[in-house]
Amino acid sequence: MSVTVRFAPSPTGRIHIGNARTALYNWLFALKAGGRFILRFDDTDRERSRPEYADGIEADLAWLGIEPDMAVRQSERFDRYERAVERLREAGLLYACYETGEELERRRRLRLSRRLPPVYGREALKLSEEEKNRLEAEGRKPHWRFLLPNFDDNPLSPRRTEVHWDDIVRGPQTVDLASMSDPVLIREDGTFLYTLPSVVDDIELAVSHVIRGDDHVTNTGAQIALFRALGAEAPAFGHHNLLTTVTGEGLSKRTGSLSIAGLREEGIEPMAVASLAVLIGAAGAVTACRDMKELALRFDPAASSKSAAKFDPAELRALSSALVHSMPFEKAAPRLRELGIDGPLAEPFWDAVRGNLETVGDAAEWWRIVREGPGTTPALSADDQVFVQSALDLLPPEPWDRETWRQWTDRVKAETGRKGKALFKPLRIALTGRESGPELADLLPLLGREGTLARRPR
Ligand code: GLU
Repeated sequence: MSVTVRFAPSPTGRIHIGNARTALYNWLFALKAGGRFILRFDDTDRERSRPEYADGIEADLAWLGIEPDMAVRQSERFDRYERAVERLREAGLLYACYETGEELERRRRLRLSRRLPPVYGREALKLSEEEKNRLEAEGRKPHWRFLLPNFDDNPLSPRRTEVHWDDIVRGPQTVDLASMSDPVLIREDGTFLYTLPSVVDDIELAVSHVIRGDDHVTNTGAQIALFRALGAEAPAFGHHNLLTTVTGEGLSKRTGSLSIAGLREEGIEPMAVASLAVLIGAAGAVTACRDMKELALRFDPAASSKSAAKFDPAELRALSSALVHSMPFEKAAPRLRELGIDGPLAEPFWDAVRGNLETVGDAAEWWRIVREGPGTTPALSADDQVFVQSALDLLPPEPWDRETWRQWTDRVKAETGRKGKALFKPLRIALTGRESGPELADLLPLLGREGTLARRPR
């Protein structure tokens, strides 16, 4: 079977790491199977959906390394949903209901008090045409429910009707269609709820595997019934656990700091986000993968934890800096160029500083230090100033390489009698303005003799 998956965000905000988990599960699943990945914007809610959010989500996915084979918008596909509505209506599977939210709530409580499952009792099916006309004449507009196939002849006496699927993440699942209400497909104002457009699109776009968060598990039974009612085979399903914050709250598109855009702005590496988003809740420690291929090898949906996983931004930062520390120059080069770090020194500079950076962006500050000096006058005692001055008089002639630092400091040690911290710390402060940083053996050839002499304390 050829594999087609889809990631279906509603463009009502920017995606967060939990949404990224869903996108990546789909992406990696398709990558492993040589399948297709569709980006579907669930933008039927015209009030809350915005084109700029859709554009932003596309950019977020691209940054993560996800390039959809196709993108569709539900707002451009209403004719298809209308056709499906017609088909359901003709088959007698869609019925008009007139209850208000309050009426439904009252009935729900009544059923609970009678120890009946709190599902919709299909009261609207009992309405005669006259009663419906009267309600409409009163100004009530119907909403429309899908009649679940959970009865023999009489929908008013449903019976246990099991639907089974072998979930890609959770294993064998069973839901009873008699334990749920007939889902509302169309609201009073004629707009579609998520269920019908989703199923129609999954059919038309030949989606073979629906992989999404486990908040959708209960929808799946009704959706499988809807696939069948529309004459289609249901796809395979997988429901992964959801991520929460460290304190256990659910993530929402409003939690700006955990948005993919926010993490990107912070300088977090995309593969750190992807690795954690995918591997969190898997057995073993999470380590950062360098690319999607490596992550695909470690991706095993069936092995991932079934309960909610806590997402810790500190872990993300640690993974991200580990990636920076080992990032080869070729990979960093385009981003360094954007920071103005270019030319023959760029590569030795990168190799010298990367081990000390949290983010690639931090390289800019070290580049400035190397090229222009510490900026402010380094804080050195009078004693140390004299020491640095005499040390600079001992600088060897060029050419310089990685050995120069040792040769120079050996000589300084012999001539001044200083050693250890008393020797190295003032030199580091004079040359970089900082008490810690990259190996001076690596930095010294980048400064050059002239640059080093220019740091002479005055
Ligand atoms: N728009 C839905 C959501 O974001 C899609 C669910 C699905 O993948 O079917 O929850």
